[in-house]
Amino acid sequence: ILQMTNVKKAFGRHEVLKGIDLTLNKGKVLVIIGPSGSGKSTLLRCMNLLETPTDGQLSLGGVSLDFAGGRKSAKNAVLEIRKRTGMVFQSYNLFPHRTVLENIIEGPVIVQRKPVEVAKLRAIELLRKVGLADKADAYPHQLSGGQQQRVGIARAVAMDPELLLFDEPTSALDPELVGEVLKVIRELAAEGMTMAVVTHEMKFAGEVADQVVFMDNGLIVESGSPDQVLKRPANERTRMFLSRLT
Ligand code: ATP
Ligand code: MG
Repeated sequence: ILQMTNVKKAFGRHEVLKGIDLTLNKGKVLVIIGPSGSGKSTLLRCMNLLETPTDGQLSLGGVSLDFAGGRKSAKNAVLEIRKRTGMVFQSYNLFPHRTVLENIIEGPVIVQRKPVEVAKLRAIELLRKVGLADKADAYPHQLSGGQQQRVGIARAVAMDPELLLFDEPTSALDPELVGEVLKVIRELAAEGMTMAVVTHEMKFAGEVADQVVFMDNGLIVESGSPDQVLKRPANERTRMFLSRLT
């Protein structure tokens, strides 16, 4: 569903992604790990074109874009790719003055032009799924961080993305709230949602990932099954990184 070929991203003269090759198949879960500053967030943001790559090719669900030579892409194709992706951020980014339900239906109603009633029914179903059926009329500040993040996930899923991106979805949470959010992500994975997840939760990574990539300094240094990358890393830098975590 997603293919990246030699994708590069530079901010001015600082090259943050130095040539990324990546394939993610439908229904699979890709976990991205690596040290701070290695380019993980930038890579995710290039997947949904929140950042425009400065080189390389990207295709998502049949829409292909070529950034070679700093080429500008057709606006339609960019919008199409944004429409096909959803993103869950570290800091939930909910609208503070809207209820949980209003947060979730905003995209479907405004962007997808779904009838409000249809969007509401779906939102309630999604809230049930993330264990928050009783919080539809609450405001974000009335919820715990873990609950807010589960709303964030419901909001992303409500847009029916073909690819769901998570950038350290639990790193802003108190430790006791991490589990409830990981559980929701695990369930989505089990239902066949295609996703790319940046996380420092290695146990979770091992359980949920079909494929793990280790990034260092703008490059994918190692890639493979969770067993290969997390348990039997071939690369010295991967080993160093993993050993420092424990
Ligand atoms: P972390 O684990 O801390 O979140 P990361 O792997 O997600 O790190 P990125 O956020 O992708 O790393 O950043 C990679 C590099 O790109 C960093 O050196 C950062 O300073 C730089 N960078 C990221 N975004 C921008 C930007 N908008 N303008 C300039 N430099 C940027
Ligand atoms: Mg980051």
